[in-house]
Amino acid sequence: MSKEELRFNSKTIHGGQEPDKAYGAVMPPIYQTSTYAQSTPGGHKGYEYSRSANPTRTALERAMASIENGEYGLAFASGLSAIDAVVKLLKPGDEVISTNDLYGGSYRLFRQVFEQYGIRFHFMGLQDLDAIEAQINDRTQLIWVETPTNPMMNVVDIKGMASLAKKHNILLAVDNTFATPYLQRPLDLGADIVMHSATKYLGGHSDVVVGALVVKDKGLADKLYFIQNASGAVCGPMDSFLVLRGIKTLHVRMQRHCDNGREIANYLKAHPKIAKVYWPGFKEHPNHEIAKNQMSDFGGMISFVPKSGTYKEAVAIVEKLRVFTLAESLGGVESLAGHPASMTHASIPREEREKSGVVDSLIRLSVGIEDVRDLIADLEQAL
Ligand SMILES: *Cc1c(COP(=O)(O)O)cnc(C)c1O
Repeated sequence: MSKEELRFNSKTIHGGQEPDKAYGAVMPPIYQTSTYAQSTPGGHKGYEYSRSANPTRTALERAMASIENGEYGLAFASGLSAIDAVVKLLKPGDEVISTNDLYGGSYRLFRQVFEQYGIRFHFMGLQDLDAIEAQINDRTQLIWVETPTNPMMNVVDIKGMASLAKKHNILLAVDNTFATPYLQRPLDLGADIVMHSATKYLGGHSDVVVGALVVKDKGLADKLYFIQNASGAVCGPMDSFLVLRGIKTLHVRMQRHCDNGREIANYLKAHPKIAKVYWPGFKEHPNHEIAKNQMSDFGGMISFVPKSGTYKEAVAIVEKLRVFTLAESLGGVESLAGHPASMTHASIPREEREKSGVVDSLIRLSVGIEDVRDLIADLEQAL
């Protein structure tokens, strides 16, 4: 049986992996080297300089490609540097369509860096395919999707988006950071590029900042590899090792994130002090049907708004939490709470933010894999 025929919960451990060629090490060694000895000029064993390629990074890139059902993986120094490489496929005058509740850092990169280079970005709700089609013109080169979105948990129909993109010959990239391939595999649904902040669930232990891209098409992989090597924001060997180690338990962790997430979403929904809970697993979530079709479960990311609706109340709640840590980021084994308006989304102007629902009192939870009774008790005392 080839390793690529394995089921997902085995691929996380074996996909794209072989024992190391030198001594049979089961985990790839951390090849902490910048360069490689050559026997004669150009005579090397596949590695010549670690910006271009490094064996530990190769192992991670193969694992990434395997779990996303892609052919080629590229590991970057951060999620944002992976996004940066994708946008560098474009040229001045090109246009991009993206969601209006995009991850704050992606929004900042698009608006404050790439607009200066003559690339235009349109931010809109990505639920209405007709409205998106109306926005497409012959300069549109890329659709950038995040699903579920951050922090409003909107779900985008990847299959529908892929057929629209194909029809107009536009690249479709999906930021799969929130769902991970455990819950959804965008390449299978027709996307061209999958992007990850591996800093989050893939690494899973809040100890590393790494990004990744996975594609199926060789031509696209070559272009992205050229940009990666030319720009140089590569993932280092130690960080590659850590993410590779994280991926081996992805399926086990994700199931617990989902189970705990479900219990906490239901707990919050029933709480008298809570006005609104955003979680795609609720039947009344506006995109629940799409979520059910394209995801195998609903994840551990939840946002909610307390009834008082004030900035002060939200801050008071997150400050009282003891098991949840008040911190940026998500996807680690430990539960985190965040206040998007002042933290992750502070770089988005208030008007833009509020249009998509990121009000001052919104609180976002990254539910970890602790005993859920301790998490609920913590929320109970803070509320
Ligand atoms: C964190 C994050 C990013 C950026 O990744 P970094 O690793 O922090 O550079 C992009 N998209 C989403 C959805 C994220 O959560």
